[in-house]
Amino acid sequence: MESVRTCVGCRTRAPRASLLRVVAVDSTLIPDERAAMPGRGAWVHETSECLDAALRRRAFVRALRVSGPLDTQTIEQFLQRKRLNGYGHEVNGSK
Ligand SMILES: [Zn+2]
Repeated sequence: MESVRTCVGCRTRAPRASLLRVVAVDSTLIPDERAAMPGRGAWVHETSECLDAALRRRAFVRALRVSGPLDTQTIEQFLQRKRLNGYGHEVNGSK
């Protein structure tokens, strides 16, 4: 049976393979691409829509049970990089 997680952005349930695990390390949100980092994790689609929605409603703070503001720079840069890589790099044909 496939594990299903709920995206903290759009609140849709999805197979964990299609979601990005996010953890908080020293109040910084870190993308955990291999889903191997210890501690609590939050799951979110790798889209700026879901990330923004999660940040707006402070879903990460709740899901990760951290107090205070989180540094989102790392994860925003990560998503930006993903988006850039998505453009014009379909030559290698990884679908
Ligand atoms: Zn989502």
